[in-house]
Amino acid sequence: MDATVSTFSFSRAPIAITELQGRLKDPACGGYASFEGWVRDHNEGERVAHLEYEAFEPLAIKEGARIVAEALARFGVEHAACVHRLGDLAIGEMAVWVGVTARHRQEAFLACRYIIDEVKHRVPIWKKEHYQNGDSGWVNCERCAAPAVQPHVHSHVHAHEHPAAAHAADYSRQMALKEVGVSGQARLAAARVLVVGAGGLGVPVLSYLAGAGVGRIGIVDGDRLEPSNLHRQTLYALADTGQPKAELAAARLRALNPEIDVRPHSVRLDAANAAELLEPYELVIDCTDNFSTKFLLNDLCVRLAKPAILSSVYQYEGQLQVIRPDRGGACLRCIWPHATRDGLVGNCAEAGVLGPVPGIFGSLQALEALKVLLDLPGQLGDELLVMDLTSLTISRLRARRAAACANGQCVRLVEAASVPPMQDLERTFASLDEAVRAGFTIIDVREPREVAEAPAPGVAATLIPVQQLLHGTPDLARDGRYLLVCASGKRSLAAAAELRARGFSAVHSLPGGIGRLERPLNA
Ligand SMILES: [Zn+2]
Repeated sequence: MDATVSTFSFSRAPIAITELQGRLKDPACGGYASFEGWVRDHNEGERVAHLEYEAFEPLAIKEGARIVAEALARFGVEHAACVHRLGDLAIGEMAVWVGVTARHRQEAFLACRYIIDEVKHRVPIWKKEHYQNGDSGWVNCERCAAPAVQPHVHSHVHAHEHPAAAHAADYSRQMALKEVGVSGQARLAAARVLVVGAGGLGVPVLSYLAGAGVGRIGIVDGDRLEPSNLHRQTLYALADTGQPKAELAAARLRALNPEIDVRPHSVRLDAANAAELLEPYELVIDCTDNFSTKFLLNDLCVRLAKPAILSSVYQYEGQLQVIRPDRGGACLRCIWPHATRDGLVGNCAEAGVLGPVPGIFGSLQALEALKVLLDLPGQLGDELLVMDLTSLTISRLRARRAAACANGQCVRLVEAASVPPMQDLERTFASLDEAVRAGFTIIDVREPREVAEAPAPGVAATLIPVQQLLHGTPDLARDGRYLLVCASGKRSLAAAAELRARGFSAVHSLPGGIGRLERPLNA
């Protein structure tokens, strides 16, 4: 023979071993190892009558060829090939064949074992079992290949290298849907989705996408877990408090489905890093609780023509919008031309929320994501879905694409360089007394109810709730030194930014809010 044989192929006819062996023969090779997998008549207590194999062939052949090439390089063998059957197979028929020739037997054994194990793990092949009782079901190859296929040649080779192999992902329940099937599952395996925010909305989105077998999932979240998150963020545990949520979520998703590629980014998405974070993904899911990130994601997705699924919840209600700039659809700004400044509408911390509310909207986001990825019918189009969960009423409001949007004027992307330095807006003090000594007047922007429940420690602060501060006529000097405080530092930051924009030059916000202040010694 003149060239190295390194092939992975499918066959709809019985596998012709003699011909394949002939192709692998080489006078320099003294060792030949082969594996054959046969169809067995029972699996997990069920009597199997016959089997069907299906594969997403373009993807499967590419991955199979890669595995064979890896085996050649890794074990230094001369020739290797693998053939997998497709279509209907009877009991006792050969489902898969691997052959390897090498100078010595040990490399041949190892390479043979490597190829069959990796093929079972990585190649998108699905098996439908037809049982003697008339039932049938799709089963992931890996899950059942081990018990259903007889090891033929290499049973004396070392213990299995993949301890997780006994528990591989099983997508049979969704593949049973005729709209999903083998090709839909392969589309999900090849899909790349970025989820921004791993909180109340993000948790159901991440869980369902990982469970569905979405091949690559990016997670962006700069926060660390707090105990108050847990009533709605069911992916986490109390013992994880203080850990970065992106990393925690990634670990849970990998445990849920070891076959997918999960990439955590423990950063806050902003104008400086957003484009780079979005670039490798084909679909973006906004699970954040702040408007500036929502508008930033909207604007980038419109510019990059990437679909995005946006949701917001407020107390007992929420809304959902799927934007399809790739199909000329309406965007977030077509509905809300004037972006609301962050912190001026309460988020979960200030407004309060019941756990299932973001749970429901996150589940809807996951559903719409799967519809987009699988191109299923009934996708939310140019409309805004609004649901009030106290009365369980749903309305769908028509969203028209603004003329400005079609001209590309909807988008107001700020260049990273023009983002004002936010550090200057925030001033850290160990106590409010320290701030007063530094010449600041303290303004507590919380609601009276919040102040009554948790008064600011130390010196008396002037109480001006944020709405009154921004929309009323508070008696403030434009050059006065003010330190705004609230519960978490978000509302005070937003209000400080707004006041700066109105010409108050020495307004600052206390980062972390009053919760992070030292208690005075005499309290
Ligand atoms: Zn628009």
